[in-house]
Amino acid sequence: MYQAFQKHLQQEISDIREAGLYKNERVITSPQDALIKIADGREMLNFCANNYLGLSDHPEIKKAATQAIEDSGYGMSSVRFICGTQDLHKRLEAAISQFFNTEDTILYAACFDANGGVFEPLLTSEDAIISDSLNHASIIDGVRLCKAARYRYANADMQDLETQLQAAQAQRFRLIVTDAVFSMDGNVAPMDEIYALAQKYDAMVMIDECHSAGVVGRTGGGVTELFDLRGDIELITGTLGKAFGGAIGGFTTGKKEMVEMLRQRSRPYLFSNSIPPMIAAAGLKAFEMLAEDNTLQDKLHENTAYFVKQMQDAGFDIKPTESAICAVMLYDANVSQQMADALLEEGIYVIGFFYPVVPKNEARIRVQLSAAHTREQLDQCIAAFIKVAKQMKVID
Ligand SMILES: *Cc1c(COP(=O)(O)O)cnc(C)c1O
Repeated sequence: MYQAFQKHLQQEISDIREAGLYKNERVITSPQDALIKIADGREMLNFCANNYLGLSDHPEIKKAATQAIEDSGYGMSSVRFICGTQDLHKRLEAAISQFFNTEDTILYAACFDANGGVFEPLLTSEDAIISDSLNHASIIDGVRLCKAARYRYANADMQDLETQLQAAQAQRFRLIVTDAVFSMDGNVAPMDEIYALAQKYDAMVMIDECHSAGVVGRTGGGVTELFDLRGDIELITGTLGKAFGGAIGGFTTGKKEMVEMLRQRSRPYLFSNSIPPMIAAAGLKAFEMLAEDNTLQDKLHENTAYFVKQMQDAGFDIKPTESAICAVMLYDANVSQQMADALLEEGIYVIGFFYPVVPKNEARIRVQLSAAHTREQLDQCIAAFIKVAKQMKVID
């Protein structure tokens, strides 16, 4: 049988290539940081990592992880409810609850699992999920695993959300779910309006804070800080794989009965291994660092504001952003690819996105800022953008 299947796969893979959608992986030979080394020996300034606070190679995070290996061992060899819970796991859950001002927290191996395992244990065919059209793949998969009625509203479109909420009055319980920051544009979900609509139409709210926790809000508290909704949202999911050290691990935090039910019924939690002690300890360290002082968050905000301003002044078309994601709009798919390639040659690592990852004729280069970037590195990046864009006649 395999021969026929092999042929089938080879054809599909070649179709992916022809469509220009084949994903190549670039090999990095240094730690993840603002300055990285790639396999051919070149050094690059990295503007496409989710390393928002620069914790991926931070000495204090590494020290916490190393110490945990010494003190608490390497792996847990168990799920949480058998013998996979250490004091470290409980302390991390408490720190996350404190960070978001929520009642309780449950850890997962990744946010993909948190989102995959959040809906099915809580909602049934009598209930409704109302989901933003641009929500992350893991939310879409999680919703698919749940029998609740599905409603979809256009990205951050409050009129459409209201229409869907009206339709969803047919169901028993309603849960609105949205990414807090949408990763292609960097726009923030209008949480104040979503919350008001939830009140008006008797719905609960879940937000995915993967790109916003540690980033958005004055102290990096996420969108609930930005919109002054700390403690008001029923469910928040997030990752330890972005701002908080970038290793692995995810969580769901919110109302205590909801978290309690997830501990009983959430399949990725019950049937998958406990996160290792070093991840729990380093994650805990990250939350402690952010709670203690605001240096990294301030630096990230300063870097983002500086980059956006300089790029706009240079004539670039930048999507309005309230996060550390900055979409440099080029509209034409070829231009976005050529420009990203040319920037690579200049030692700037960024990615061009085009249809179907973003809508047709909305191709762009996405730049992700980090607290790890120095002013000099930002200036290098901006200068390279200007040089390449002038050559390509994207700006005058
Ligand atoms: C990155 C991301 C995830 C997945 O997080 P992992 O912990 O890497 O699995 C989920 N949702 C959103 C919005 C993300 O950006």
